[in-house]
Order: sequence, then structure tokens, then C-alpha cells
Amino acid sequence: MTDPREALQRLPAVDRTLQTPEAAELTDRYGHAWVVAAIREELDEQRARIRAGEPSIDLSELVGRVRQRLAEQGTPSLQGVINASGVIVHTNLGRAPLSTAAATAAAEIAAGYSNLEYDLPAGKRGSRYVHARELLTRLTGAEAALLVNNNAAAVLLALAGLAAGREVIISRGQLVEIGGGFRIPDVLAASGAQLVEVGTTNRTYAADYERAITPDTALILRVHQSNFRQQGFVHQAELAELAELAHAHGLVLVDDLGSGTLLDTAPYGLVHEPTVQESLAAGADLVTFSGDKLLGGPQAGILVGKAELIARLEHNPLTRALRVDKMAIAAMQATLLHYVRGEAERKIPVWRMLAASAVELEARSERLASSVGAAGWQLREGRSMIGGGALPEESLPTRLLVWPYANPQVLAERLRAGSPTVLARVEDGALVLDLRTVLPEQESALADRLRALLG
Ligand SMILES: *Cc1c(COP(=O)(O)O)cnc(C)c1O
Repeated sequence: MTDPREALQRLPAVDRTLQTPEAAELTDRYGHAWVVAAIREELDEQRARIRAGEPSIDLSELVGRVRQRLAEQGTPSLQGVINASGVIVHTNLGRAPLSTAAATAAAEIAAGYSNLEYDLPAGKRGSRYVHARELLTRLTGAEAALLVNNNAAAVLLALAGLAAGREVIISRGQLVEIGGGFRIPDVLAASGAQLVEVGTTNRTYAADYERAITPDTALILRVHQSNFRQQGFVHQAELAELAELAHAHGLVLVDDLGSGTLLDTAPYGLVHEPTVQESLAAGADLVTFSGDKLLGGPQAGILVGKAELIARLEHNPLTRALRVDKMAIAAMQATLLHYVRGEAERKIPVWRMLAASAVELEARSERLASSVGAAGWQLREGRSMIGGGALPEESLPTRLLVWPYANPQVLAERLRAGSPTVLARVEDGALVLDLRTVLPEQESALADRLRALLG
């Protein structure tokens, strides 16, 4: 049994630790203040251990632990992961991976000055909102467009800017929670507008909206049921009916599409997700949607619609607080250009993943498995999820690469712990990889990790 007092006294002092050649090297790399702080933190931890009955450590062990501590503190906590889960728009994994062009555009704009808010021909102050506007109006047919931080911000801005202090009518079937605590009634409350609920959970008719209109009504809000499906005895008023009603009473119709898509999802064997163009054609005055769900771009919220409404929102003071940054604008422009050029399905990762066939995924899985070189793998039929609050319950047929080894949970944990981090699934007692969501350029790193783990 060590005497704690003696063990505490044997702990090296900060000064002595700093005088070692190893500490000098650490100081070069991390700076004096950070190294001193790390030594103090480590000594505090060691003192607590000694008081708990553990032995003291010597100088070289202390320096080793300080090195380890600094290495951990110096590693950014936000890191890339290989998504082998098969969930395409995975909100916890950063939603849409950017196309090469979009990522490059963001990096280039980030690294230098730009004409973000400068009108080059006029040689004077300009607006950041002009940059994505023309591409968005060209693609959607809308009169005008505005980019903000995310779709939650877009909805908040539309309500605060067009209905604060007045009434907003919404169906009880659309008072939804999107996830991460984003609930439509709370957003309405935050906007300063007053919520008027109509209809029932399962059925709401245009007549329900009509009866609720008062001189205080400003707006009708339609929210796409993007992360759940109602089945059975259900009815929601058509957007075109709501548009007719809204316009007959001088009200604004806002459609929160959630994911929003510019392309039809039906050709991929999925349910048809309403497109932005369809909402506008049905008469919505403003449509809001996310930049990083099915659009496949950076985090952003997009508002498209009537020029007069967009202009009012652009000049609302709240817009400044919700504004989109230059990297997102750059990535958004590059993403939208893929759509304008008709190459979205080839260039945008989300759409490439949606388009990948089971045959193609089978070939990729076989290639990967044979390069890993570990025996016992199998291919199995399975499903990839769309995720991200788009197309709930919808999935795509895929081929899963299955490793029916013992302790799949432990294997999945090890894949999460190493570098690069790999997120796999555990299903039916086996480690399962879905290559649909693995970027082709990540395949060799994935093979290396699997080889180290299973080979
Ligand atoms: C996802 C979603 C939102 C929030 O969009 P973010 O871009 O995540 O802020 C709002 N409304 C609906 C219907 C959604 O599906």
C-alpha cells in the first residue's frame, strides 16, 4: 500500500516537466500556454488518482500522458465519417454530401475575398441575395427567391414577416414536429403570429379554412407531412383549393415543402415527392424548402415565390439574423448549376445514391469484399432508407454486404472508434454494410479498415 502523501510529493512539478526535451517539442507544436494547461490538467487528474489509492507516476510517464492529452485536444471533434448505413439524407451525419463542384466552390470562396455584397459593374455595395436568385427562378419558374440559413429560418421569416400580430390558419393534421424540437406551433408562437387550428387530426377540408377566416387573418400555411404518413380515413385540402380561397380573401398562401425537390422521385421507384414547381403552379405564393435534403446542396433555407413578398422579407430585420453565409451561397450556386445543366443525377451525390441500382451495388460490394480478403462474407437483399424527413416509409432495394461474425455490436463499435470512422448497421446478428451511401472515393479507406478489423 503506497502512502498517498509520499506519492503526491513524488509527482513531478510543472516547471520540471516543462524543462524536458519532449515538453520543448510539444511547446513548439502547441504553444507554451496550452502545454502548461495540459500539464496542470494531467497533474490534477493524477492527484485525484493517488488519493483514490493508485501509485504515483514518473516524469516520462507524465510527459507521455500530456502528449496524449494534447493530441486529443488538438484533434477537431467534427470529422468526416464513412456512412455505410444506407440512410441517404442522414440528419445526424450532416445530411447531403456536396458535389465536388459545390465543395470546391465553397472552399475557394471561403479562402479569399469575393463580391459577396459588392456590385462589381457599379463599383458599390450590392446584395448577397442576388447570387442564387437567378438560378432559383430559372429552375422553379418563381418570380423571386431568397436564401436563408435553413428551412426552419425560412418558415420563421415568412410567418414573422407576413403575419406577425395577425392570424395564421393551419390544419390540425399539419401541426407537426420535424425533429430536433422543431414544432410548427412553437415556430408560429416565436414568429409573433397567432395560430388558428382548423379541421381534425385526420381530415381537413377547404371549407374548414374558409370558416376560420376573419379580418385578422393574414396567411394560410400548408406544411408538407414530410416525416410521417397518415393512412385510412384521411383528407387534406388540395393546395390549389387553398390558393383559390386565399386569393379570394386577399390572404397569402405559404407552402412549407420540407425537403422540397426539383426532380421527380417517381422514376426511382419511390412515391412522388411534391416538387417546388408543382407547388408554385398550384398557386402557392411562397414555397419554402431545405437546401440540404433532396436538393443535395449545403445547409440553407430557400424561399421562392411572388416578388413583392420576397422583397418584403428581404428587407425584414430578421433576415439579417437568419442570413446565409458566403460558403453556402457558393455551394448552392454550384449545386443549382448541376440542375440547370441537366446533370443533377450524375453529379449530385444524393441523386447518384438514389439512382444506384441493386446490380451496381452488388458489384461494388463484391469488389470491396474480395479486396478485404476476409472469408465468410455474404450478399443479402435489403433496403436503403431515404431519411432526412423526406419520403417517410420509402426505401430502395439494395444489396447488403453481410459479415456474419460473432459480436457484431463490438465490430460496429470498433468501426466507429477508428479513423476514418465507419458507420455500419447491425442486423439479424451480423455486421451489415450498405454501399449505396459510401462515396466511391471512400471505398479503399473502407476496405483498409475492414481488413484491419476482420482480416
Ligand atoms: C426538414 C423540415 C423543416 C426544417 O428544415 P431545416 O432545413 O432542417 O431547417 C421544416 N419543415 C418541414 C416540413 C421539414 O420537413
